[in-house]
Amino acid sequence: MDRLLSVVIPAFNEEAMVEKAASAVAAVLRGADIPYELIFVDDGSRDGTWEAILRAHEADKCVRGVSFSRNFGKDRAVFAGLAKARGACVAVMDCDLQHPPAMLPEMAALWEQGFEVVEGVKRDRGEESGLHRLCAGAFYAVISRLAKLDMKRSSDFKLMDRKVVDALLALPEEDVFFRGLTAFVGFRRAEVAFDVAQREAGESKWSFRSLARYAVSSVTAFSAAPMQLATVFGALFAAVAVVTGILYAVVGYDADGWLVFLGVMGLLAAACGLLCLGIAGYYLGRVFRQSLGRPRYIISRECGD
Ligand code: UDP
Ligand code: MG
Repeated sequence: MDRLLSVVIPAFNEEAMVEKAASAVAAVLRGADIPYELIFVDDGSRDGTWEAILRAHEADKCVRGVSFSRNFGKDRAVFAGLAKARGACVAVMDCDLQHPPAMLPEMAALWEQGFEVVEGVKRDRGEESGLHRLCAGAFYAVISRLAKLDMKRSSDFKLMDRKVVDALLALPEEDVFFRGLTAFVGFRRAEVAFDVAQREAGESKWSFRSLARYAVSSVTAFSAAPMQLATVFGALFAAVAVVTGILYAVVGYDADGWLVFLGVMGLLAAACGLLCLGIAGYYLGRVFRQSLGRPRYIISRECGD
């Protein structure tokens, strides 16, 4: 069984896709003669996802399932799958078949050649709108700079060696960020390009708000630089204060103009101060949650052994 490939598939409200995904992935792997297990992680779905996983397990005993007690988010679902996986290598892919299962044999072949992380890299971002593309571009530009990780073209579609999986599972953070952490752990990597397929059924769970939250949480997981904004603002307003003082002494006093200027500067300084407090608070929140030591997720049901 030392070629066993575990495929981890997080699923949130995917009742329409679970069985399709299970049979599509199994057909590809059977065709390529790769021993496999499929691990579906039901991320607290509110539809019939769990029942669909049970049916997929009945149809193919290589399907295993884990169900969370509530929705914990995709990254935690991925980590739960990694913790359950027994394979010598582990692939992670979406349940909506936007990550083409047909790529798995090529990825497994690269792994057999000695690559420890085989990254699925998006060639085409599918049906995303121009705005989405722009935001994603900006997000990756910022995070590559701040976190010094090249994540511009990366996706959650990956195949990893057991060593990589064990390195990921050994990380202590409660708030896991799969894409960033796989870049963080390093190892020998190869890339395969894939076209993002259209989602067949169900709908994307990402709203603009949840993407923005994801972006903030990703940047703060890898960089403390945003907190230095306070230093920048501090220096800026100190300079404004000095220049204003000098001008006051040299040019003199003109009640209305000065008052408006000082009022505006005062409000601006207060706003920047509060913004920085908010940013520091965000980091403090991370430290606080980590210090509680709560589990990343809670499992309520499992199937398959
Ligand atoms: N997903 C999850 N938990 C969530 C949201 C999504 O496990 O809270 C899963 C979802 O079922 C799918 C994958 O993550 O398998 C990608 O989600 P989605 O298709 O909504 O994202 P997109 O493809 O639009 O980035
Ligand atoms: Mg999708």
